[in-house]
Amino acid sequence: MKNVKYARCVRCGKTYEAVPDLTNCACGGILDIVYDYDYIKTKLTKEGLKARGNRSMWRYRELLPVEETTPDTPLRVGWSPLYEEPGLAKQLGIKKLWVKDDGQNPTASLKDRASAMAVAKAKEAGASIIACSSTGNAASSLAGNAAAAGLKTYIFVPERAPKGKVAQLMIFGANVISVKGNYEETFKLSAEAIDKYGWYNRNAAINPYLSEGKKTVALEIAEQLDWQMPDYLAISVGDGCTIAGVWKGLKDLYAIGFIDKLPRLISAQSTGCYPLNRAIQENAPWQPMEENTIADSISVGVPRNADKALMAIRESNGLAINVTDEEILAAQRLLGRTCGVFGEPAGVTGTAAVKKACELGLLGPDDTVVSVVTGNGLKDVANAIKSAGEPIHIEPDLDLMVSEFAKRGVTVE
Ligand SMILES: *Cc1c(COP(=O)(O)O)cnc(C)c1O
Ligand SMILES: [Zn+2]
Repeated sequence: MKNVKYARCVRCGKTYEAVPDLTNCACGGILDIVYDYDYIKTKLTKEGLKARGNRSMWRYRELLPVEETTPDTPLRVGWSPLYEEPGLAKQLGIKKLWVKDDGQNPTASLKDRASAMAVAKAKEAGASIIACSSTGNAASSLAGNAAAAGLKTYIFVPERAPKGKVAQLMIFGANVISVKGNYEETFKLSAEAIDKYGWYNRNAAINPYLSEGKKTVALEIAEQLDWQMPDYLAISVGDGCTIAGVWKGLKDLYAIGFIDKLPRLISAQSTGCYPLNRAIQENAPWQPMEENTIADSISVGVPRNADKALMAIRESNGLAINVTDEEILAAQRLLGRTCGVFGEPAGVTGTAAVKKACELGLLGPDDTVVSVVTGNGLKDVANAIKSAGEPIHIEPDLDLMVSEFAKRGVTVE
């Protein structure tokens, strides 16, 4: 890879050759891919990008850690829409708001960006089986992207994973191990099995290439905004791989001179599980927490990418905002009703945090904000119905309908 120098441990600084099956540093620290920006600048220009037909994450190939000969993965991952939402911005009392709907990826979450990268790297490594543990979306995205590329998968999910996500796994033909335990226990079992069988490892905390895939969401946002960056970028946080990836993407663009301003990150977690935000708020090392939130994708009591995530939030002078499950469900309705965007609970937690930050006076009329919706609401229909309620149930009779309207005080215009 001419665009990559090496991988470097974020904890001790030791460097490693960037082979396809990199894992953690000998010291236990997570590795970060280090690029040759001078080389990249000779290959990638804004004009060149604009002329490029490729509407997927692979349009940013020069900034991605893959060999030039590695083919694009088969599913169309990335290039999700970025909607400007003046109505919601006004309602929240901020200058501008954009919503990036990453639930529109092929398996309906941002995780497709990491899984496509995992599939590309597994192919480079000559592997035929990939494994991961996941709260749900990493699993379903891996299963789909691997199936499309002809790779087998072994997938470990905690038994609380919502049905929609498990259904995806089964349809994509994964070997699914549903673990009677929490995410931490699930992760441990997957690590032991991967060790035993030598499968390619798609655990985001271990595999440093995955956050490089996730960073493409930030590259896209920048390009979609014509390189004019917002003041803030809000995203929900579980393991911390996504927010770290977002920051990496922003710093890449800054390093090659495509943007001249770095947004402040808003790290959104649930009050039911916020180990990373707590570390920021108390300016202390992170400690494990209970996993107690309906936002299952970010219900991560032992975050696997804490070092990179905390560094990203701190370096960006970011905000750490916790929201309750009720606030998450309210944001889900708000996004649905004002923007027509349907996110799963963890998907809308970033938007819930934006709303909360407005209420707390941390954001105001001069601020511009991008909020990333990280997963689609159809993955977890049970919580959506809990949030939005039931429709009017009625026999097929117009008079009955009219009297039902009257009973409920519905005025028909
Ligand atoms: C995984 C996930 C997140 C959080 O990403 P991390 O890398 O674990 O921090 C947020 N939202 C959704 C929908 C996810 O699937
Ligand atoms: Zn190290």
